[in-house]
Amino acid sequence: MLKKNDIVPLTITSATAEGSGVGKTDEGMAVFVPLSAVGDELDVRILKVKKSYAFGKIEKIIKPAPSRVAPDCPYFSKCGGCVWRHISYKEECEIKRQKVTDAVSRIGGLDAPVMPIIGSDRALRYRNKAQLPVGLSREGGLCMGFYALHSHRIIDCDDCLLQPECFADVMRITREFMEKTDNDVYDEATGKGRLRHLYIRLGEVTNELMVCYVVNGNGLKQEDILLKMLREGLPNLKTVVINSNRENTNVILGAKNRVIYGSGYITDVLCGLKFKISPFSFWQVNRAQAETLYNKAREYAALTGEETLLDLYCGTGTIGLSMARDCKKLIGVEIIEDAVRDAENNAAVNSICNARFMCADAPEAAARLESEGVRPDVVVLDPPRKGCGEELVRTIGKMAPERVVYVSCDPATLARDLKTFAEIGYKTEEVTPVDMFPRTAHVESACLMSRKKPHN
Ligand code: SAH
Repeated sequence: MLKKNDIVPLTITSATAEGSGVGKTDEGMAVFVPLSAVGDELDVRILKVKKSYAFGKIEKIIKPAPSRVAPDCPYFSKCGGCVWRHISYKEECEIKRQKVTDAVSRIGGLDAPVMPIIGSDRALRYRNKAQLPVGLSREGGLCMGFYALHSHRIIDCDDCLLQPECFADVMRITREFMEKTDNDVYDEATGKGRLRHLYIRLGEVTNELMVCYVVNGNGLKQEDILLKMLREGLPNLKTVVINSNRENTNVILGAKNRVIYGSGYITDVLCGLKFKISPFSFWQVNRAQAETLYNKAREYAALTGEETLLDLYCGTGTIGLSMARDCKKLIGVEIIEDAVRDAENNAAVNSICNARFMCADAPEAAARLESEGVRPDVVVLDPPRKGCGEELVRTIGKMAPERVVYVSCDPATLARDLKTFAEIGYKTEEVTPVDMFPRTAHVESACLMSRKKPHN
């Protein structure tokens, strides 16, 4: 029997999409080993034994897998961000495609074709957003960076290889400012102290930089000094915002923003359109690859100019607006008020006049539209991780669009929803995985469904 602290020889034969390699012991027990790669021959130290599987960690690499590469980040394995810095990007893409294929067949029970994954041109520095927690180090100093995996312990970092280089400058200037002034940092345990998070956004095409400080209180002491330092050190600084969050919560942003420099927002370009991004707006973190994803969605929507398009979970309107010129009418639905306002502005800025946006819960709004007799020809949906759920699928069925384009950030809930769509007569024609977040465990997909049952 396997027990804690045993050291067993193990060959890694598969990988979970969450970043663990898996191998079987001689007795047939599956062991999950983080930071291992398919093909590794290892000595593994057993950490925890469950009924039919166990967890272990690498004690010694006897023979490394051919896909192994030397991790290029000093924080890798400590920081909870990346899980794949020890294998080639090609191998990572294969694992991600497999996750989608497995979900579609095992959870969805479908034999729909899953296309080759569209990898990101950039696997480094592709992000345009960072939300960095600030706290106390064990020695009582300032600590800023990323949470360790499944934890609220902050790993102190100077830079992140997924972020633009100028974010490291913002981090450095912020540290210098904190040292110079008597601002203290927030302590989760006591709820005392001021600075909670440093939140940065960059317009990739426009190069406009937003810096936002999330503060337990109304502001920071000596904000004039902070502004001077930021303006001197960051040539592309567009706006600085103080966000107040006094709640004892994991939610990063509080309700109130105070703009201390610029207009409170930045702009960027996506699919040829201009977008306004405020601290609260949802905006894809890998802009270039979002374009790839939306172009795929647009190809699936196959619009001719005559259609009514319903864009559910529309955020700041990006997907729908990128297709607005190809359809007759666009209706967007989004639950966050600020995002809806941004979507309306984005339509206006881009002189799009055939779009309207509703601030509502997507299942509720769809039911209302359906009862009012709205019959979209194409529905696009891009729900959060929990998917769209059965109620909304059935309402969409009643509206009977010819095509449904499902953009998903979670293959498991996508597959579950596709199964419900299949029950009401929608055939999954094709799924294309798109890698928006190289080196992390996330994978997105675009999926085309078409209506098979005649409308009556
Ligand atoms: N399509 C957009 C945003 C997708 S993210 C884009 O690509 O930019 C998912 C969006 O769904 C978020 O903006 C979130 O605020 C919104 N959302 C979450 N729950 C919702 C609900 N119940 N009803 C409507 N929108 C919701």
